[in-house]
Amino acid sequence: MTLKRGSEVLLGVGSSHGVAIAPAVVLSGSRRAVRRQHVAETAVEEERERFDVAVRDVQQDLQATLSSVVPGRPEAAILEAYLLMAGDELFAQEVSLQIENERRCADWAVAEVTAKFVAKLERVDDAYMRERSHDIDFVGQRLLRALRGGSSMSDELNVTEPSIVIAHDLSPADTAAMTRAPIVAFVTEVGSRTSHTSIMARALEIPAVVGVKNALDRIGTGDMVIVDGLRGQVIVDPSPLEIAEAEQRGGRYAAMMNKLGQGRDRPARTQDGTLVRLQANIELALEAELAVEHGAEGIGLYRTEYLYVDRAAPPSEEEQYQSFRKVLGEIGDRPVTLRTFDIGGDKFVSTFPMPKELNPMLGLRAVRLALSERALFFEHLRAMARASGQGDVQVMIPMVASLDELHAVRELLEEARLSVKAEGQVVADVIPLGVMIEVPAAAVMADMYAREADFLSIGTNDLVQYALAIDRTNQALAHLASPFDPGVLRLVHGVIRAGLEHDCPVSLCGEMASDPMGALLLLGFGLRSMSMESVAIPEIKEAISRVNMTELKTLAGEALACRTASEVNDLLFEALGDRLRDLLTGEPLSTPGGPPPSSDAPPGLSSD
Ligand code: PEP
Ligand code: MG
Repeated sequence: MTLKRGSEVLLGVGSSHGVAIAPAVVLSGSRRAVRRQHVAETAVEEERERFDVAVRDVQQDLQATLSSVVPGRPEAAILEAYLLMAGDELFAQEVSLQIENERRCADWAVAEVTAKFVAKLERVDDAYMRERSHDIDFVGQRLLRALRGGSSMSDELNVTEPSIVIAHDLSPADTAAMTRAPIVAFVTEVGSRTSHTSIMARALEIPAVVGVKNALDRIGTGDMVIVDGLRGQVIVDPSPLEIAEAEQRGGRYAAMMNKLGQGRDRPARTQDGTLVRLQANIELALEAELAVEHGAEGIGLYRTEYLYVDRAAPPSEEEQYQSFRKVLGEIGDRPVTLRTFDIGGDKFVSTFPMPKELNPMLGLRAVRLALSERALFFEHLRAMARASGQGDVQVMIPMVASLDELHAVRELLEEARLSVKAEGQVVADVIPLGVMIEVPAAAVMADMYAREADFLSIGTNDLVQYALAIDRTNQALAHLASPFDPGVLRLVHGVIRAGLEHDCPVSLCGEMASDPMGALLLLGFGLRSMSMESVAIPEIKEAISRVNMTELKTLAGEALACRTASEVNDLLFEALGDRLRDLLTGEPLSTPGGPPPSSDAPPGLSSD
């Protein structure tokens, strides 16, 4: 227990909503000093054997955790990836060399090789790969724990009362172990909204705040802690008043989510009867189940590039087909939009030999890469064509900058469809082919695309990046990268209008759709279909049910006349803030006034 010092508020990123209050359990002991001992030549074999045993122990432990996870949950796929990493041959070879050549004990060798792999990935100028370095570190720490004859995380978490875990970072295996202990929330020092830990927290539906710097120094085991995933706050040693407020806020949020969940089968409809189609974005096939649970009316974006990550060779056509079938099986007769792989930029995968580029975001990325790797791309399209015989499939092209790209992909997709058909397999007669509008030039040319494409989908995450010239992975500039920038709004509005004029369906699958204010503004622009993270669907549906189209149209016109993003933000907050307060902040609707938009901005106001 730390000394009493009055409450202290630590800030981070609320990566899983909700509020929890409980004593802390600090997992600082998981990172102990590593034994560094030279060994005699005669002991080399023994050390190698110790390493092999540790690998087997870790694999068994991961396997045991995996079997306790409900199949189909996101953590299962992540645990499987860890199992692969634990048995990685290259890693084992390097450890073996360290033991033999440097005569280091197995612990030292594992620590060295882990550090080397991690450092290599951390140097890569790519957010996704840097995130993977955490995963390697986790597996390394697991091996070290096993070499010490140590227990698994679930044993370390020997708690019987509701507790909040405070850790530097948590692996999905650690997070999954929490389901067996009464853990009600967690706080980590590292991580972002899109890191695996955050994904797991949302899947487990417990509040989490990540990226809390120095949490381990500021919180001691036994300290009472409030974790507020709505505000991205951690309050240490809270006052009775702070506890009472947090209890109320958490209770209200839980009641609200419960109520929203009951409306799963209810359509999204404004007060004056306008229907809106809400679909889900998924990264992994097994998330389709989650999408259905949250009432998604189909998959508006399946980021198929995730099939290519964390592996040595690209997935075979058959494997891709099976993943697509799995999604179609879950989703029933609803539509599934398969986006062709968007690799490159901030999504680097080891299965493609990418050139070293000064500006990967402006380089060989997405459809450009696909068209330069024709054989692989053809297999990818064949897998999609095969899936088209099994359900309502449409194909979508990312990062289109020229109509030539649409023509080239259309030709290849038709070739793929015919080749599958020629083999006697079932295929759809027509596979709708759509274009993502993410490049400003494509947005300006939206009328041309609307004439030729079967549908358009606006990718605001990238559109904001390219329109405002702000790298979407740059945290320091994230506050400037707003989809409410009037320049961006005019582009988005233009695309929606072009779709309506040319009878071409338009959807939007960037983060903007999962922000209640953003979603409502888009309705005012005329959009009637959006795709978002599954967990956002009930909230957006609720927001839609509280407004009418007449006011949204007026609001949309006023927003287009604004000069800056903050003017738009203020306008929306003024018009809708009170009505959406509970959805945005967990505060009750009846509270008058309230915090200004900038201090309590909902997740999704910036485009990162
Ligand atoms: C986008 O850019 O808005 C989008 C949905 O695609 P991604 O985030 O996968 O680049
Ligand atoms: Mg994009």
